Amino acid sequence: MKAELLYEGKAKQVYQAQGESGKLVLSYKNDATAFNGGKKDSFEGKGRLNNEISSLIFNELHAKGIETHFIERLNETEQLVTQTEIIPLEVVVRNIAAGSIPKRLGIEEKTPFEKPMIEFFYKNDELGDPLINDEHALYLSNVTEAEIKEIKELARKINTHLIDIFRSINISLVDFKLEFGRKSGGTIILADEVSPDTCRLWDRTTGENLDKDVFRKGTGDLIEVYEEILKRLEAKA
Ligand code: UDP
Repeated sequence: MKAELLYEGKAKQVYQAQGESGKLVLSYKNDATAFNGGKKDSFEGKGRLNNEISSLIFNELHAKGIETHFIERLNETEQLVTQTEIIPLEVVVRNIAAGSIPKRLGIEEKTPFEKPMIEFFYKNDELGDPLINDEHALYLSNVTEAEIKEIKELARKINTHLIDIFRSINISLVDFKLEFGRKSGGTIILADEVSPDTCRLWDRTTGENLDKDVFRKGTGDLIEVYEEILKRLEAKA
């Protein structure tokens, strides 16, 4: 299924799909990084869990009419996706203040945002993924002003669907990061992954972190909490 390795990131490898032009194989790795690569570890089973979780979530988004690059899960750690040109923006959507925003803007942790807050970060490891504004995004990426608006609208729509999906498994969706890609025809669609690596997920009853924060903060067993997310999503499916 896989041909040439095109790219290796912190959490995934990207291969050209064998004999299928315009398609890629994403291979989820067991590596975990935090603080812009400052903290690193590897967890047996993480690649499988994120591949399975992300596949289930993409399928749910498809059912709700959201177009994504996801085609199918191939095996434990790999999925087939449509090839897109990734737009170098990390689009963060926040429903509740957590992570970097309380410190940056002096907002009290756990403050809910009445209107979900959207932030752009420039996807550039060397620069440490800096926070940027719309004008920077326009300058740094190959998008038009109308497309910036479209990306924000898509992110808000995806947020409402993800809130519903997670609420149905007793989880509060605090914040998450999306990446968008451009198909060969020009259309912008959701790409990358949606997993506990890229979302902050709090149990609605206990408040417990069920995401990569257990690794960032060293407060729990990453595999155990990712297993819990998968178990709840499978029970719902
Ligand atoms: N996030 C991500 N990749 C990044 C940075 C952030 O997936 O490179 C996600 C993170 O998991 C969280 C949300 O985006 O769900 C907001 O992250 P924040 O800016 O608070 O940064 P953090 O403190 O999580 O690094």
